[in-house]
Amino acid sequence: MIYLDHAATTPIPRAVADAMYEVLTEQYGNPSSQYSFGADMKKRVEEWRETVADALGCDPKRLYFTACGTESDNWAISAACWQNRHLGKHIVTTAVEHSAVRVTCQWLEKQGYEVTYLTPDGSGDITAQQVLDAVRPDTALVSVMLVNNELGNIYPVAEIAAGLKKKNPQTLLHTDAVQAFLKIPFTAKTLGADFIALSGHKIGAPKGIGALYISDRVRNPKPLLSGGGQEGGLRAGTEATAQIAGFAKAVELRTENLAEKLARMTELKAYAKEQLSTIPDVLLLGGEAPHVLALSLVGWPSQNIVNDLGSQGICISAGSACHQGKPSHVVATLKLPKKAAGGVIRLSFGPETTREEIDACVAALRTHHDTRMPML
Ligand code: PLP
Repeated sequence: MIYLDHAATTPIPRAVADAMYEVLTEQYGNPSSQYSFGADMKKRVEEWRETVADALGCDPKRLYFTACGTESDNWAISAACWQNRHLGKHIVTTAVEHSAVRVTCQWLEKQGYEVTYLTPDGSGDITAQQVLDAVRPDTALVSVMLVNNELGNIYPVAEIAAGLKKKNPQTLLHTDAVQAFLKIPFTAKTLGADFIALSGHKIGAPKGIGALYISDRVRNPKPLLSGGGQEGGLRAGTEATAQIAGFAKAVELRTENLAEKLARMTELKAYAKEQLSTIPDVLLLGGEAPHVLALSLVGWPSQNIVNDLGSQGICISAGSACHQGKPSHVVATLKLPKKAAGGVIRLSFGPETTREEIDACVAALRTHHDTRMPML
């Protein structure tokens, strides 16, 4: 199998599975138990939190484990709206957010919030000025993702944070960094966002673990789950110790020689673009994130391409894996001609992706182009 869908999910390295196996079978104590078998686990959870917090460049006390990126996004948005309930009921976000943000904002609209959805330009970019211009005195929250999952565009979150502090310092800033964490260089400090959502399974950790950074500007964060007092009383529920162990191990592995890994992925993406542009009717799309390459085989329906390559053991995606079968709201914002929009696919890479895998994928796409019927 050739797996070129790392933005959907990633393979779990053996060392991550081993770390989890040890916790599942030997270190299965409950971190809240009083005896050392439990208390030791509590210590280890704090060590694992430190590993993830170090990679994000934040104080471990500000990092809370969650079940996934979706949960982190949901929590951030509701906590921000709660904290700023005195300020107003206006939210600024983009029209290209992941559903975890988009659907949450749509739900808030039904509860009386007004949401401004900013549309990117034809290349998928959004400027800080565009965001800041939309901010009003009653804007409780700005939510702008750091890397777009379908296009790979990188959004100017640090610039938005700096501008917000001048324009409306009370407005809170959330960023969905699920596709950015350990894919582009940033820290909580360099970003300056109040909430940063992460997900484990995009970086070699298991599914079912995420994290949310909450800055100290959010004095009394609204709890997500009330109960036994875990996660500083903000996200109760017995810690998913094996998942957390896997998350920390994956972070540890990814951060080893990270700059080299990112440089290699950037070089691989440039190589892939070069090869793809030799196929007639290919239109390269998207931004600079090293692991996401969006393109259209103009005139050939994306679902057919994905199925054809899938039948040859080559895994790629037609837009976001969360929207299979439906037209993507992200691609729609690019206002491409119908035949170009219908042919958008996404290749996404991991540190272990090779040139040979790219070559095989490009060859399969060329054959698809040369042998399959285009849409009328
Ligand atoms: N945000 C972005 C940008 C994503 O790409 C994804 C997953 O595809 C999510 C959020 C949701 O993360 P999770 O699958 O951990 O809920």
